[in-house]
Amino acid sequence: VILAAPGVRGLVPYQPGKPIEELERELGVTGAIKLASNENPYGPGAKAKAAAAAALAQMERYPDGGGFALKRALAHRLAVSERQITLGNGSNDVLELIARTFLCPGETALCDEHAFAAYAISVRGIGAHMIQVPSRAYAHDLDAMAHALSPSVRMVFLANPNNPTGTWFGREELAGFLAAVPASTIVVLDEAYLEYVTEPDYPDGCGFLARHPNLVVVRTFSKIHGLAGLRVGYAVSDPALAELMNRLRQPFNVNIVAQAAAVAALADKAHVERMRAVNAADRATLAAALRDHGLGVLPSVGNFLCVEVGDAARLYEALLRQGVIVRPLKPYGMTAHLRITVGRPEENARLLRALADIMRAA
Ligand code: PMP
Repeated sequence: VILAAPGVRGLVPYQPGKPIEELERELGVTGAIKLASNENPYGPGAKAKAAAAAALAQMERYPDGGGFALKRALAHRLAVSERQITLGNGSNDVLELIARTFLCPGETALCDEHAFAAYAISVRGIGAHMIQVPSRAYAHDLDAMAHALSPSVRMVFLANPNNPTGTWFGREELAGFLAAVPASTIVVLDEAYLEYVTEPDYPDGCGFLARHPNLVVVRTFSKIHGLAGLRVGYAVSDPALAELMNRLRQPFNVNIVAQAAAVAALADKAHVERMRAVNAADRATLAAALRDHGLGVLPSVGNFLCVEVGDAARLYEALLRQGVIVRPLKPYGMTAHLRITVGRPEENARLLRALADIMRAA
């Protein structure tokens, strides 16, 4: 019998959704829609698509292991140095790299009770412990998290906005929390949905790096940039932390197509702005329609809604039978909620029709 490493023994794997074609076959439906993974339903802009296609011509070459062009573009955009950036195969890869670089077996990390599942997998996978701090109204309770700090807590994960709840915290709250964290504890601030946020008080985590060299800001090209399938994410941190992560990073973790597409996507500000505006409008319309159906909708600043539906497992199955795939949140300890990605208007309409049918039949 081959035993897994101690941290791996108790892990429950992250449950990705089934491929849409597989579900259609199982259910005997066609034209199913997926509003389950918080992807950008419009995908990348034309410039990123063209750059990706052009980069395919170089497929026999290894990618640039240092990510030179992408780091330069990011550094320029974020007004940081290239030495502060660590690239990853999606931000999941970056999150895992952070845990492997800075945590030892037996040490402890903290996150919110409804935090993104990848944090706990990364932490527990290396044999460290994850403490989950109860939320307040489904949002991070930063006061409670600050109280939970102790010398054994080596790392804290914050998501702003949070997935799956869509909640967020403001500048003052972040500043207060960072001030409470000992300098030897790493704060991982996951801003996967940052570009969607329109609230004026939303803090850009990179603005806190100069004063907090223990902060690691994590971002992705999977969401507003529409490149989830290419897998590009990055961390922005103090150069000393980036240098440590770089020692463990797989040198070719971001492929040639992904690097080229990400550089082009970053330059296409108009696409990002359009996506932000379209999402904000469609999210408001969808939230209002869901509330009209009598459902509770948590206030969300992301590209998804966390919806209180009662028996979420039952509604999830019923929607699935109608070819509408959403995300059940049982793995997040939420059995009354579903997470629904804001889709294209016709997809949102289809979801609402399915919901109306199900509710009428109930
Ligand atoms: N962080 C958060 C909060 C997320 O919701 C996601 C994707 N669901 C990720 C990180 C990981 O995204 P990716 O690996 O595609 O960059």
